[in-house]
Amino acid sequence: MNEIRVGAKNKGTRPVLPRVFLSYGRDDVPNVGECGIVQSLIGMTTEELQSVAVEVGQPAYRGKQLATWIYGRCASDFAQMTDVPKAMKERLAENYVVTPFSVVHRDTAPDGTMKYLLKMQDGQTIESVYLPYSERVSVCLSSQVGCAAGCTFCATAQGGLSRHLTAGEIVGQFLTLQGESERRISHAVYMGMGEPLWNYENTIKSLRLLGSEVGVSLRNLTVSTVGVVPGIRALSREDLPITLALSLHAPNDELRARLIPTARKWKLDEILDACEEYAEVTKRNLTFEYLMIGGLNDSPEHARELASLLRARKLPGNVNLIPFNYVMTSQGYTRPEPDAVQRFRLELEKHGRTATQRMTRGHAISAACGQLKRLLTTPKKIEAHEILPLVR
Ligand code: SAH
Repeated sequence: MNEIRVGAKNKGTRPVLPRVFLSYGRDDVPNVGECGIVQSLIGMTTEELQSVAVEVGQPAYRGKQLATWIYGRCASDFAQMTDVPKAMKERLAENYVVTPFSVVHRDTAPDGTMKYLLKMQDGQTIESVYLPYSERVSVCLSSQVGCAAGCTFCATAQGGLSRHLTAGEIVGQFLTLQGESERRISHAVYMGMGEPLWNYENTIKSLRLLGSEVGVSLRNLTVSTVGVVPGIRALSREDLPITLALSLHAPNDELRARLIPTARKWKLDEILDACEEYAEVTKRNLTFEYLMIGGLNDSPEHARELASLLRARKLPGNVNLIPFNYVMTSQGYTRPEPDAVQRFRLELEKHGRTATQRMTRGHAISAACGQLKRLLTTPKKIEAHEILPLVR
């Protein structure tokens, strides 16, 4: 709370952030508004920015100007908005900030992957990753501070859940990384910290903002979920042609429950029913993510079981194989042998399911979900050498 940099003088007239949260997880997770944070302009639609302009005594078109600065030119500060009247900027700064966080750490890997640690106004930190490929640039965005899913292989899960991110904090990650990039970012995956479908409304608003305000093609946006059934069903009715990725990771409930504790709440049957509905309503293929852990879920039998699970459902979509990105776990999980990944892929293909192997990027900078934050905030628990030698 004492992190607030600008504004907050005029608390009485400050717009109140929505308190009602459509959250499919825990209802007791604080909304950012309850943390006493100054609202950011990033996260508002052009229409909302027009209302803000009027609120500070300016004509509505000034709101459009703000939108152009924020979403078109990635301005992070009022000072950058050179054609906005000084008096208006001063009035705005009494109640608003432009960007809701600051960059506190950047790491670049030899392959160009950049990992960002961002500090929110309430002092919480989240991670975002910049992923340049030869033909496109993608970013990996966080949707919550921490995560409640408790996946046993995930660094984020080890810290539990603190709070939801606002739509502005989600879109702000994209804009901050775009502001530092010479190349245009065309893709975004919601695969950073958190479960996007447990922060449903803010996730949806951020997707719409990326589409309509920032101009990213909705087809290039991927939301990854641990399998939040009501969220998947609601998403199918949003008329958002994004890609839904399901973190499957196991072909049966028993094995899945060992990896993902929430699997005890929603069984594969229920999750895949919801995915079927999603595919039917949206006419979009899904992506099935399959994290591979050495000797645990990486045998050809598992591949066959997975292929028949998906075939029985007539669920279209690729399987994306993800070799475990090493984090220290009490179970002592290890990366699968490259041969095992190859065999798994061939077995899936033999049974009619196309599979791709996710390129492992950014190992040298701990780019797996939640690793950097843990490395920086609990250096004694995770030593760099435990993560770094696994570059293959
Ligand atoms: N909560 C969402 C999105 C965030 S995690 C979800 O579960 O899908 C994004 C992806 O990274 C998920 O597929 C997750 O299982 C995977 N992941 C987490 N920790 C990982 C690790 N150590 N190595 C490889 N993938 C990991």
